[in-house]
Amino acid sequence: MTIAEKNGDEGFKMGDPYYCSECERTHVKGKIYKEHLKYAQEIIDEEDPESEENLVEKEDFEDEEGLEDEEDFKDEEDFKDEEEFEELEENEELEDEEFLEEKDSEKEDTKEKDLTMQECIERVKTLPGVGEATLVKLVEAGFSSLESIAFTPPSIIQEDSGLGEKTTAKIIQSAMKKLNIGFKSAKEVWNHRKNISRITSGSQELDNLLLGGIETGAVLEFFGEFRTGKTQIMHQLCVNVQLPKEKGGIEGAALYIDTEGTFRPERIIQMSEALDLDHKKVLKNIIYGRAYNSDHQILLVKEATNIIKEKNIKLIVVDSLIGHFRSEYIGRGTLADRQQRINQHLHDLLRLTDIYPDLSICVTNQVQAKPNVFYGNPIQATGGNIIAHGSTIRIYLRKGKGEQRVAKVVDAPHLPVAEAVFSITEDGISD
Ligand code: ADP
Ligand code: MG
Repeated sequence: MTIAEKNGDEGFKMGDPYYCSECERTHVKGKIYKEHLKYAQEIIDEEDPESEENLVEKEDFEDEEGLEDEEDFKDEEDFKDEEEFEELEENEELEDEEFLEEKDSEKEDTKEKDLTMQECIERVKTLPGVGEATLVKLVEAGFSSLESIAFTPPSIIQEDSGLGEKTTAKIIQSAMKKLNIGFKSAKEVWNHRKNISRITSGSQELDNLLLGGIETGAVLEFFGEFRTGKTQIMHQLCVNVQLPKEKGGIEGAALYIDTEGTFRPERIIQMSEALDLDHKKVLKNIIYGRAYNSDHQILLVKEATNIIKEKNIKLIVVDSLIGHFRSEYIGRGTLADRQQRINQHLHDLLRLTDIYPDLSICVTNQVQAKPNVFYGNPIQATGGNIIAHGSTIRIYLRKGKGEQRVAKVVDAPHLPVAEAVFSITEDGISD
C-alpha cells in the first residue's frame, strides 16, 4: 500500500502536501521521511523514474539505508526527533502568502551561502595534492574549508575521510601554510580579541560579569546544581543570539544539542514574545538535535561542522555535556576511558571555535554540591579536571532567594573573580 492509499487520497502526486498517518504530520515538497522508506519507494517506482527530482530522492535513500545499520541507537523514535526541526520548515501553512514570500527570500539566502561554501571548497581544491577524488573524500567527511583541515588532528581527518597518512599530513601542512598559521604578534592577537562579539544573556549584571556578554570564539561552561537555571540560560541564548547587534545579539542561528530531553519550544515562544520577536522565526532558527547516548552526542557535534556555515549558526549549546558519559560509565569501563572520551569531545567543540571564530559554544554541567566545601571549591565536578582545563570560561551557578540565581566566574584567564545576581522569570533571564 502506498502513502496515498493509506491516506485515502487517490490524487496524490510527489510534491503535493499530504497528511502522513505514519508520523502524524503534514508533509510538503514530496520529501520522504526515513520512517516510511518502503511506502516512499513504492510511490517513486510508480512515478517517472527518470525525473530529476526522483533521482535525487533515490540517492538519499541509499545514504539512509546505510544509516539503518546502526540500529542500536537509531531506532524509529530517533529519526522522528532528529527530523522534527527540518520538518517544521515544511509544515507551516502553505496558503499563507507571507509564508510564500518568506520561502522566496530564503531561496536567495541559500544561493548566497552556497556560493561562500563553494568558495571554501575552491580554496581546498587549490591545495597541492588535492585532486577531484581527494576533494570529494574531504568534503564528504566535512572538511570543506582550509580552516577545518588545518585545525583537525591528522588522525581524525584520516579516519573520517579514508585518506592515507602521507596525503593527510601534506594537505594539513599546506592548509596551515595558506592560512598563515604559526606565531603571531600580541598585536594581532589583540586585534582579534578587540573584535570579539558578544551575546547578551538577558541580565545586565551577568553581562557585566562577562565583560559584555557571552563571547564568541570561546567555550563557556555553566555548571551548578539541579534547577540553578542552566537550561533556562541556554534557551535564552538561543533566542538572544538571533537579535540584531544593537539589541545585544549577533544575528545568527543556534544549534541545540539536548542530551536530557529538557528543551522546551514553549519556553522559546515565551522568551521571544517578551522581546517582541516573531516566535515562528525564532523557532525556525534553532536547529535541534536530541542526543540519546554519548556516541550519538559526539556524532552530532561532528555533523555540526557541515551545517554551521550553511545555516549561519553562531551559537552551539550542549545541555548537558557529560550526563551521558557519566551514566554510561557507571559499572563499565574505567574512569580514565571516560575522561579520555570527554576530553576528545570537548576538543571537538574547542576546535569548532578555532575554525569559526564568530561562533560561541555554551555547555552545561551538573554538579552535586558537597555541603562542607560549598563555598570553597565545589568544582570537584562530574567531569573532573579535564573539563576545567578544556573550557575557556567557567561560570558557577547557585540558587539565591526565590527566582534569584547567583553566577560566579571561575578560572577565566581575563575575567575578575566576581559574582552577579540574576533572575529567572516567565519572560526569561533578567536582572
Ligand atoms: P537546570 O540548572 O537544572 O538546568 P533549569 O534551567 O531547568 O535548571 O531551571 C529551572 C528553574 O527555572 C525552575 O526552578 C524555575 O525557577 C525556573 N523556570 C523554569 N520555567 C519557568 C517559567 N516558565 N517561569 C518562571 N520560571 C521558570
Ligand atoms: Mg537542565
